[in-house]
Amino acid sequence: MTALADFSPTITRSTLADGRDLIYFDDPGAGPRVPAPDGRDLPPRAEPGELRFDALSGDWVAVAAHRQARTHLPPADACPLCPTTPSNSSEIPDADYDVVVFENRFPSLGPVLADLPSSLAWGESVPAAGRCEVVSFTSEHTGSFGELPYTRARTVVEAWAHRTAELSALEGIRQVFPFENRGAQIGVTLHHPHGQIYAYPYLTPRGAQLAAAAQRHFEATDGTQTLLGSLLDSERSDGSRMVLEGQHFSAFVPFAARWPIEAHLVPHRDVADFAGLTGEEKDELADVYLRLLAGVDALYDTPTPYIAAWNQAPLDPALRPASRFHLQLTSPRRAEDKLKFLAGSEAAMGAFINDTRAEDVAARLREAVASVSGVAR
Ligand SMILES: [Zn+2]
Repeated sequence: MTALADFSPTITRSTLADGRDLIYFDDPGAGPRVPAPDGRDLPPRAEPGELRFDALSGDWVAVAAHRQARTHLPPADACPLCPTTPSNSSEIPDADYDVVVFENRFPSLGPVLADLPSSLAWGESVPAAGRCEVVSFTSEHTGSFGELPYTRARTVVEAWAHRTAELSALEGIRQVFPFENRGAQIGVTLHHPHGQIYAYPYLTPRGAQLAAAAQRHFEATDGTQTLLGSLLDSERSDGSRMVLEGQHFSAFVPFAARWPIEAHLVPHRDVADFAGLTGEEKDELADVYLRLLAGVDALYDTPTPYIAAWNQAPLDPALRPASRFHLQLTSPRRAEDKLKFLAGSEAAMGAFINDTRAEDVAARLREAVASVSGVAR
């Protein structure tokens, strides 16, 4: 692979008709862009939803009733992520683009920004502060991230890093979470290949759980070892759950995987988030992530639904040093035509029962990744 450590997409900022930010990330060499104006007559942005504090669990719940009106699986000629045409005034006013990021028109969080209180009295709520962004990976309506050419995937990685840095600096933000839901089976409302970024004004329940475990290990080793660093070392020396190994990143199926298909992609050094990666690391990340996704899609004859969850360190300076950036890729698919549903034990108690063994899934994934490696892009 050619070193692309100085990879720099052309970044162009614009604004949609209702004031939302829109940012183009064009592949390097695309030249400067003069963004087209958004000619739509959009209503003013909706008032934010509310955040309610659940005294029973200590969790925040975002109530976003206005999201019921959002677009659901539109055909290609009405897709809000396709470039604008004479018959479809989409969210992207231009006739073409490479990668684009914009504020969600129907956000669960935002557009207000504010520091949240640590808890609320029963029956009180606050405006749902934060920010939700959409990342469109390509102007093509069909396909998926795993089918992107390398350069485009690398541009998306750059967009994730850019957005992580900016969102982390916004007032009141405690966690920045880039993710992708792929497949209508797991609730995707738009087929167009895209992901999202949530900037939360609180540490999510899962984020808090992972941060607490990371903190315990960090303290037990006098601040010399992150938990994920120790886990990766042990997985690499054991080998039975490894899926792929690179210079800067490796993927393995976690020992106590919760989902029928689950893989974690972890950097070889302690780094907090996308924004902290070096150019060389981002170069390799785009490559190994594409290989991992291609491997997942080689498991079955039809595309496998997945959630790609990019876990970034909490922004709380007390928790940050113990947490290492990583991807948790999970799929509920347990057979060609069977999905795992979260039922009583999992949904009600958070107690997972997995029908697959991590070592078996790792062997299948390893073979699948090897079978697709070297395919020219
Ligand atoms: Zn589309």
